[in-house]
Amino acid sequence: MNTDTSHALFTRAQARLPGGVNSPVRAFGSVGGEPFFAARAEGPYLWDVDGNRYIDYVGSWGPMIAGHAHPAVMAAVAETMRHGLSFGVPNALEVDMAERLAALVPSLEMVRMVNSGTEATLSAIRLARGATGRSRIVKFEGCYHGHGDSFLVKAGSGALTFGLPNSPGVPQSLADLTLTLPYNDFEAADALFALHGAEIAGLIIEPIAGNMNCILPREGYLQHLRALTSKHGALLIFDEVMTGFRVAPGGAQELFGVTPDLSTFGKIIGGGMPVGAYGGRRELMAQVAPSGPIYQAGTLSGNPVAMAAGLATLDLLGAPGFHDALLGKTHRLCDGLEAAARDAGVPVTTNRAPAMFGLFFTDQKVESFAQATACDVAAFRRFFHGMLARGVYLAPSAYEAGFLSAAHDDADIDATVEAARGAFADARG
Ligand code: PMP
Repeated sequence: MNTDTSHALFTRAQARLPGGVNSPVRAFGSVGGEPFFAARAEGPYLWDVDGNRYIDYVGSWGPMIAGHAHPAVMAAVAETMRHGLSFGVPNALEVDMAERLAALVPSLEMVRMVNSGTEATLSAIRLARGATGRSRIVKFEGCYHGHGDSFLVKAGSGALTFGLPNSPGVPQSLADLTLTLPYNDFEAADALFALHGAEIAGLIIEPIAGNMNCILPREGYLQHLRALTSKHGALLIFDEVMTGFRVAPGGAQELFGVTPDLSTFGKIIGGGMPVGAYGGRRELMAQVAPSGPIYQAGTLSGNPVAMAAGLATLDLLGAPGFHDALLGKTHRLCDGLEAAARDAGVPVTTNRAPAMFGLFFTDQKVESFAQATACDVAAFRRFFHGMLARGVYLAPSAYEAGFLSAAHDDADIDATVEAARGAFADARG
């Protein structure tokens, strides 16, 4: 596979962009090698600047659930663009979006549109702190909520110690306010709330974790957190930046039947344009400026072109059977990958949610961060490059969920499984 043009671009990029990229995982740091540069994308495929085609299981990290460059989304964007790119005054599409979100996700009585998932989560915890008058927040080891200071915190030496910054530039005094729990551990959550419950403004969780590979909540776990936070007067915040509109029309909260106080979204609601949103109970959201004192603002928030792309995408996923079909494809892919691994004699398990999956180089069922990080990362690296060389693009990290789109058909999935037969042999080393 010729990648000379990508290589030349990456050489130029490294001179002017930190690591040659505008977001770290894109640099292939954890798998080695160099990223390819995209020329275009359509349906389930990406083409690089050297003309190579890849079946894409990243989907721009989540937004492209309808497939790349879907004609309906492209048409909505083109039509909206004709009237101007940004107005700085309210536009009708923002109202349409807020109403649409409330219709799909009943807990979103009110929403505020922002420009990224990061903005959504950091605004949601400001609201949680402002509304409760408390300072501490709780997050889970292995969950990612964007790059806000309060989230760039890892667990201290024990689960009940205060957080440690995991980036220079995050003050220890702020990290002290972030408490970190092991995902799927009932007792640790009980113990932490028993100690600090009265100081906790909110608990934020990915209701299906997609940033430590893909880990589903244990039976009853989200319900347990719902009860625990309510008991202690803390807000439950679901970060549905990945799961929103992906795992069900109403996100993970619909799939599991648990209603959070606040939720955060991104990715799919922008259809590929930069968008985020946070929302929840009216009485909480009414405390956001200008109707309340908790400040949050954005020059480009509610951008008409972004709203148009998001609304067109939400229209598409409203089609009957959309999510069931995606779940069927997810099983076809994961069953195929497991069978191919078995035939190659490589221990592999998968975790699955509609249109979202995790592949683990282990023979154990993976339910925790500790298990996810104990998998054979070297085998993943070899597998990743084996797939790439065969025209399949997986997330370039052992700790990212994979995504399917409505555009992946059975032939694409079967071609992926066929590629995996060779790549698993490579992974064996
Ligand atoms: N929350 C979750 C669950 C995410 O997966 C991400 C990004 N992958 C974010 C928040 C941050 O979103 P953004 O990159 O748009 O800032």
